[in-house]
Amino acid sequence: MQNPKINTRCVQAGYTPGNGEPRQIPIIQSTTFKYATSSSMGALFDLEASGYFYTRLQNPTNDSVAAKIAALEGGTAAMLTSSGQAATFYAVFNICSCGDHVVASSQIYGGSYNLFAVTMKRMGISFTFVSPDCSDEELEAAFQPNTKAVFGETISNPSLTVLDIERFAKAAHDHGVPLIVDNTFATPINCRPFEWGADIITHSTTKYMDGHGAAVGGCIVDSGKFDWTKYPDKFPGLCTPDESYHGVTYTERFGLEGAFITKATVQLMRDLGSIQAPQNAFILNLGLESLHVRVKRHCENALAVAEFLESDPHITWVNYCSLPGNPYYERAQKYLPNGSCGVVSFGVKGGRATAEAFMARLKLGAIETHVADARTCILHPASSTHRQMNEEELIAAGVPSDLIRLSVGLEDAEDIIADLKQALEG
Ligand SMILES: *Cc1c(COP(=O)(O)O)cnc(C)c1O
Repeated sequence: MQNPKINTRCVQAGYTPGNGEPRQIPIIQSTTFKYATSSSMGALFDLEASGYFYTRLQNPTNDSVAAKIAALEGGTAAMLTSSGQAATFYAVFNICSCGDHVVASSQIYGGSYNLFAVTMKRMGISFTFVSPDCSDEELEAAFQPNTKAVFGETISNPSLTVLDIERFAKAAHDHGVPLIVDNTFATPINCRPFEWGADIITHSTTKYMDGHGAAVGGCIVDSGKFDWTKYPDKFPGLCTPDESYHGVTYTERFGLEGAFITKATVQLMRDLGSIQAPQNAFILNLGLESLHVRVKRHCENALAVAEFLESDPHITWVNYCSLPGNPYYERAQKYLPNGSCGVVSFGVKGGRATAEAFMARLKLGAIETHVADARTCILHPASSTHRQMNEEELIAAGVPSDLIRLSVGLEDAEDIIADLKQALEG
């Protein structure tokens, strides 16, 4: 079928069985693959033939699921990783080496912030963090001659800001570098960053894509549009021979559509591991088959919950970008017109102590460090994920001590609201 709609792609893309073959994607639970001759296997090691040899690098189950995610995002190639953290690391490390620099939005997932500001800093890669709402001058000033990428989140976790993707893409391209967007919260159902100029997309598939709290995973998708060959000095890893593959140059051998993901697979996966287990890829695909149905319901429920919270006298503030009056409402209407995500944050009167007591009274909403699950879950970052921070640090991180993060699930919205109401009144 030519150009199926995204709902159809969720169900069908990535795997087409032949006559008499399994209807569901087979789980290829095998570490290795058999060849008739050493020379046919040798061709794989020289990247002259495509095929599988070891599941640390590639596995057919993973490739079917990655192909589905590439189809959802409108990309040319994709790879699965063992976690969202691995996806973020590989996406950046694939084009950055010691001595390089990245411009990143300050409103990003805490795990990504630690990865950049602490661990990748130890590898000699430096990061400048800018507010997603910084002035043009501030954004311009963040670039350095050694800048190799710009990084941001479509909807940031947990602060729920919306990235002006077009503006950040233009700034990146003006400096000859790609924009990498973490599209975890929006999912390709609500936003496809490639349509707004992004070049590489990362996902924590652990969130809405799996959607059932069953399998940790990540994914990287390439748009195939960024022309690395225009800047061979900036991207030598893609544009000059890789001696570990007898001098293959990725952009020459695999074209713009395949170079980035091929390099990340045959070089970074080979050396660092952290591929997604085929079993998890299978579970992820079950989630993807209903992604379009679930995301729509998550958003409807979250909007109903946000409207209820806004009207409740115990609540001091509500943050949900699809709610009129939110500072990101206009931008959300542009990039996320059909809905944003199922995560809402809010503050309760009385601050930290009231927040903890309120959460303990919930019956449906479970206290968890997770989001984007079919089951409603809730977190008080100041007493859990961010508990090492003092009041000033919490405010600087956009996570004030009264902030409660609610991931609205797929239960009936009336039941979720009734649960919140009884806990607030108690
Ligand atoms: C959870 C999350 C990650 C990290 O993903 P893991 O699968 O937990 O490693 C990265 N980015 C965002 C936006 C997330 O919510």
